[in-house]
Amino acid sequence: MDKHSPEVVTAIRAITTASNLCQKVRMDLAGRESILKSDRSPVTIADYGSQAIICKFIKQAFPRDTIVAEEDSKELRKPVHSKILKQVTYYVDKSIPGSSTEALCSWIDFGSKVVADRFWALDPIDGTKGFLRGDQYAIALALIENGFTKLGIMACPNLYLDKDRPDGKKGCLFLALRGKGSVQIDIDGGQQRSLSVSRINDPSEATITESVEPDHADHLFHQRLAKKLNISKPRLQMDSQAKYGIVARGEAAIYLRVPSPSEPNYKEKIWDHAAGSIIAEEAGGRVTDIFGHGLDFSCGIKMEKNHGVVVTNGILHDVILEALKV
Ligand code: AMP
Ligand code: MG
Repeated sequence: MDKHSPEVVTAIRAITTASNLCQKVRMDLAGRESILKSDRSPVTIADYGSQAIICKFIKQAFPRDTIVAEEDSKELRKPVHSKILKQVTYYVDKSIPGSSTEALCSWIDFGSKVVADRFWALDPIDGTKGFLRGDQYAIALALIENGFTKLGIMACPNLYLDKDRPDGKKGCLFLALRGKGSVQIDIDGGQQRSLSVSRINDPSEATITESVEPDHADHLFHQRLAKKLNISKPRLQMDSQAKYGIVARGEAAIYLRVPSPSEPNYKEKIWDHAAGSIIAEEAGGRVTDIFGHGLDFSCGIKMEKNHGVVVTNGILHDVILEALKV
């Protein structure tokens, strides 16, 4: 697979179109409206719109492929949510003219919860809480064949392109192909650069990145680990898989995700890690769980065989795994 493969071309078109929809929703008041799903995580107009668009593009190009995706249209179709459905239709129609309500619900439902030998893992908006707060979020899509991620693509519409200009232009598209490296593309087109992780080999000089949400990771444990390794730089808290991009760009050498004490047995979802992990790996990083096991995307929607996640620049990986042993 190379950057001209139909998979890559389709994935870029799908993600870019979805990303534009998300940014439009964010800029409008509509971004504030959300439905609480049964697990109480907020899901917005943009989540649904993004999933509808990406599923439509993928299914159109690859009708036989499975897409494992976070959302379905069950809640959205309820009469109580008719206003939200109308808004989703409005935004999807702007991206794909002529989209009907029924069509977009059927596109959302191309999403399945069962993995296959070859499947796409999609998080239409990763970090919905960040999206609602106006912080970081990502649209993440990966192609997995026989358990191995072949392609990862992620849009981070609110992420600065250049670390030296954090208030400068925003909107990054990350793309990784197995064996071919990782690149960052300006989402508006144009500028492209290949990515590589930091070369730091002294853990005390490293920056750790972690979730913003305290329920998603054990911040206290991360803090203790930082102290143990004499890390004095403040931890960089960021929503979504943008953290993988930050490691791939060399801005943080470590991304820690030790399960939070509020949910110590939490099993990570494949769509939260498939795209991000190949982006960090292809930039030279290493990704495992906290016991050093490789992430297994073949068990189903949950990564049943893994516990937490550790991402590093590779050089520091064994040191971190050792320090994690208490
Ligand atoms: P982040 O922005 O890195 O905190 O990750 C956001 C993702 O965390 C969401 O997409 C959820 O699927 C996932 N999530 C939800 N609950 C938990 C939990 N208890 N532990 C870890 N991740 C979680
Ligand atoms: Mg997510």
